[in-house]
Formats: sequence, structure tokens, C-alpha cells
Amino acid sequence: MRYDSVIIGGGLSGLVCGLRLVQAGKRCAIISSGQSALHFSSGSFDLLSALPDGEAVTSPVEGVKVLAEQNEEHPYVKMGVERFAALAAEAVATLQGAGVEVEGDVAKNHYRLTPMGTLKPTWLTLSGYVRSESAEALPYKSVLLLNAEGFLDFYAQFISDELRKTGTTCRICNFNLPALEIIRNNPTEMRSANIARIFDNEQAVEALSQIISREAGECEAVLLPAFLGIERGDVLARLQERCGRTIRVVATLPPSVPGVRTQIALRKAFERAGGVYMLGDTALGFEESEGRITKIYTQNHGNIAIEADDFVLATGSYFSQGLVAKREGVVEPLFGSDVCQSESRGEWYERDLFTAQPFEKFGVRSDASLRILRGGKAVENLYVIGAGLAGFNPVKEGCGAGVSMLSAVYVSDNILKK
Ligand SMILES: Cc1cc2nc3c(=O)[nH]c(=O)nc-3n(C[C@H](O)[C@H](O)[C@H](O)COP(=O)(O)OP(=O)(O)OC[C@H]3O[C@@H](n4cnc5c(N)ncnc54)[C@H](O)[C@@H]3O)c2cc1C
Repeated sequence: MRYDSVIIGGGLSGLVCGLRLVQAGKRCAIISSGQSALHFSSGSFDLLSALPDGEAVTSPVEGVKVLAEQNEEHPYVKMGVERFAALAAEAVATLQGAGVEVEGDVAKNHYRLTPMGTLKPTWLTLSGYVRSESAEALPYKSVLLLNAEGFLDFYAQFISDELRKTGTTCRICNFNLPALEIIRNNPTEMRSANIARIFDNEQAVEALSQIISREAGECEAVLLPAFLGIERGDVLARLQERCGRTIRVVATLPPSVPGVRTQIALRKAFERAGGVYMLGDTALGFEESEGRITKIYTQNHGNIAIEADDFVLATGSYFSQGLVAKREGVVEPLFGSDVCQSESRGEWYERDLFTAQPFEKFGVRSDASLRILRGGKAVENLYVIGAGLAGFNPVKEGCGAGVSMLSAVYVSDNILKK
């Protein structure tokens, strides 16, 4: 099997990179073991919410200039602070081209409502989620918080308590539907993805719209858990149209239904454009010659080699096993890439759980083009993108999805320039 480019890992970064390559006419395959971090997504994509010294960032495009003074190894700095806004714009265009509707501005973070009812800064939020331009309060003074009876991955009382503190009154109401009774027979089935499937059916949408119309009263907005349809993306719009009300969704605990929908939309767009997505396959080995990777081997294809001009490692961080912590050190298990990490195990973490953890910044070493270093030397046709990159803290700096998407755009450009 031969392609122009092969991407290993089919999460956010692999899909954005692959999509741009196929759209530019490259023959491209993505090999992906399984679920990605998108299945756990908050519904928002962070770009830059804080600097390494902890200072909050309100404008990512301004903040990145200061970031360059604090951490020259940060992927944004490597890719070029002057290219930051353009890369971000390309990432948004790629999402929207795949039918993933997002709202947000590279010049100003907005705030998303967390499942605990607090407001957190972010860059892009999937359309339909509740969001605010203010860090202090929602744009609504009164809301109805409507939950499905028996759905435990949504803490309505926490959200209500937090919203009250910010001046939004919140009424909680549980609803029931005949279709929910069936999955409620087994409480472990009451998960967001199963409930979402119920709303793929128009009858359930109609029944919910009647409940909303009956219960909403005088409230400014109705908030629901983000579990409205897996196959369908139009359920919220249908409900708003039928009820004539402002209705928004709030993130649940995982799985993230809108995150799964984003993954599906990106994958479909990639395949529509001619890409080959090999789900459930794992890259296990490779061959190299004269400083280049020539072939990779996967679990499902056995000794049938997959050849390409360029390879992109998009296997994520610890969560997706793109990085693995062993007794003797943190390793990148597929290519044995150089990994940036602390000298001794004792320096991997800080005892204060809430402080920035050194292990968060560990990752694959790369050169200015994001070509992977092995034994200190860049491999000519092997790139790294996404959560496996070294030099950033996605949690403390609020930049996880941003690094994934911007590095994907950057590397696809580098491959296309060749
Ligand atoms: C639980 C969780 C939730 C997050 N939520 C958010 C959020 O809400 N907002 C935000 O901005 N950031 C969030 N992040 C940060 C996150 O890292 C990025 O947003 C981004 O989604 C990561 O994408 P990725 O493609 O780099 O890696 P991943 O999504 O981790 O994808 C890597 C893929 O590679 C596959 N893989 C691994 N090894 C192999 C192999 N050998 N062969 C083939 N395939 C392989 C894995 O199965 C996986 O599908 C979250 C991170 C985690 C861990």
C-alpha cells in the first residue's frame, strides 16, 4: 500500500492535518487505534488562556507575544508567533468546512460554562453551547435547567448553585420520555451517548419540545445537557424553532456527545475528500533508510507494509498512549523519538496537585518544521503534531486543542510546500 502521506493517530490533530492534505490533492491515510480526546471534549477548543507564569490571557493573539518571552520551546513559538493568527484562522476554516460550527475570536477569549457551573476562558465553542462574553456572569438573568430523569452525569444542583452566585436565577426541572424508560431499566445505560440516540428520532424531539414549552415559563433561556442527537446535528435548532425560545446546551461528564459528533464530521469530510481512515488499527513498527522512514507496519495489516513520502505522528499524549511513562523514563513507543523530560523520576511531578506539573510539558522533541528528532537528528520525512508535542502545558495554559489544530495546519503546510 502506498500513499503520499500517512498519519498515525486519528484525533483532532490527525484529522485536521489529513483533511488539509487530501483537500490539496494528496493521497492520504490515517491509521487510528481507537477513541480520541474529542470523545471527552468540553465542547470548546482552547487556544491560550494563561501564560506559563500564570497570568491570565484575554487576547490569545496578544498573549502569544508574551509567551514567546517566557517559553521559547512552546509549539506556538516554534511555529512562529507571526503565523499564529493565520494558523488559527486556517484551523477554524477547516472545522467549518467539515460542517463543525464554532463561535469565537482569536483576538478575545470568551467563557464557557463547565459541568460544575463555573465559567472558564476559551477560544472556540461549538454552536449551541451556552457561552458568555463575561467572566463574571451568563448573558441570562433567569434560566430553566432541564435534565433527563435518572441522568447522573449532569450535576444540575452544582450548576444552579454556581449560577445563583453570579446573579442568574435557575430553576431545575427533570423530564421523562417513554423512550428513556427503556434505557433507565439499566441505570448504567443512562449515559449521554445512549440518550443522544433517542433524540435522533423526530418523535422524541417533538415530545421534548412540548415539555420545554410547558415548563419554560418566563425564563430567558432553557439549558439542557449536551445530549441532543448523535447522528443529527439539527436537534437544538428544531427545538428552538418549535418552542420559539433561546435553548442552549451545557457540557456533561464524558462521553461528550458534541465531541463525538465533531470526530464523526471531521472523519466523514476526510473520507469524502478521498482520504482512507483505518479505524481500529495500530501502527506497531517501521523501516527506515538514509534518515527517512520508508514503511510502517500495523496490527491489522501484519507484514503488508504501508509506504509513504511523509509520515505524521499524531498519537496524542499519555491519555492515548502516544507517550508512555515507564520506570526508566517517558518514551514515545512507536518510533522511539527523543522525548523532552526531566532527568530524574522525582522531578516528574510536584507534590501540590494543583500546581503546574512538569510531566505535562514532556513530549516529542522536534525541529522548527516539527520534524521529529531521533538521536538528536531530525528525521527528514517524519513530523509530530498535537498533544504529543513537547514544551506546553495544555491544562494550565489552556491551549490543548489550539496546539493540536495549529500544529496540524503548520505541518500540512510544510508537507505541501515540499
Ligand atoms: C480527556 C481529555 C479531554 C480534553 N478536553 C479538551 C477540551 O475540552 N478542550 C481543549 O482545548 N483541549 C482538550 N484536551 C486537550 C487535547 O489534548 C486536545 O484538545 C486534542 O483533542 C488532542 O488531539 P490529538 O489528536 O493531539 O490527540 P488524541 O485526541 O489523543 O488522539 C490520538 C489518537 O492516536 C491514536 N493512537 C495512539 N497510538 C497509536 C498507534 N500506535 N497507532 C494508531 N493510532 C494510535 C489514539 O487511539 C487516538 O485516537 C483534552 C485532553 C484530554 C486527554
